[in-house]
Amino acid sequence: MPSTSATETIAPGVRRVRVPMPPGTGLPFSNAYLIDDADGRVHVVDPGSPTRAARATLRESLGAASVAAIVITHLHPDHAGGAAALAAETGASVLVHDRERAALGLIAAGLPAPDLDAWGVPPERRPELLAAAAVPTGPAAELVDSVLTGVLTDGELLALPGRRIRVVGTPGHTGGHLCLHDEEAGLLLTGDHVLPTVNSGLGLGGPTTTNPIADYLASLDRVARLDRDGLRALPGHEDPFTGLRERCAALAAHHLRRAEEVAAHPGGTVWETARTLTWTSGWDALAGFTLLSALRQTAQHREFVARAA
Ligand SMILES: [Zn+2]
Repeated sequence: MPSTSATETIAPGVRRVRVPMPPGTGLPFSNAYLIDDADGRVHVVDPGSPTRAARATLRESLGAASVAAIVITHLHPDHAGGAAALAAETGASVLVHDRERAALGLIAAGLPAPDLDAWGVPPERRPELLAAAAVPTGPAAELVDSVLTGVLTDGELLALPGRRIRVVGTPGHTGGHLCLHDEEAGLLLTGDHVLPTVNSGLGLGGPTTTNPIADYLASLDRVARLDRDGLRALPGHEDPFTGLRERCAALAAHHLRRAEEVAAHPGGTVWETARTLTWTSGWDALAGFTLLSALRQTAQHREFVARAA
């Protein structure tokens, strides 16, 4: 296998490729993972962004390898965006969780605009929110129309000869997010479900019938239970880490704190609640997409608190 500066061997038959992110996204790279099977073929998890730089990095890391399959942890463009081009070049199959496939269908069909009236958004802030909501959240139409070849379900083993890699459904960040567990190798590919320092947003994969906060807390519990015998977490951004159980506990505590903050301000509109909460760079700095995301998270937390009451 060719080795490049972007590529690093994690375990026998498992390599990480640091795939550059588009500029201005706040994170320098996403991680693609290349897993060898017993037939001498490679399975790619999260090929990365659909940019020229990302494609070139991945192609160099793959060299002349025969790509059997592309597995996508979730529908965001920095994970799934490169799937279409890689599938076209290699003829590989492309797989997502069945819940993510359903979400992709909804997104491709066009999502309704957020109900800014119900959120109590002042008129002067509405245009930026409507503009942010109109930006496509991922490569949905392209994937749904021609690229996806199959779906995965909770507990299923990947069709990957020579290894037993199990699909762990982890809704929260998106409704159909998945992690991949190789118990024998002591590895868990975590996508954006659990990152070592960054706190991924929740409910960022289109509408769901369940509450993303409640889903996420259950999904944290699900993967924390897998943390045995020095399990290594292989995240979708940043570097591989151990201590998954502790990291899950910290993330759960963060969301429960936020829920308490929301519960302390019952009543009023989503806009009024959001203004009272603590935001990393301050409420006044939120605009456009970050403001939309903050309001969505606040609405989800209000719903979570209301359901728990
Ligand atoms: Zn993501």
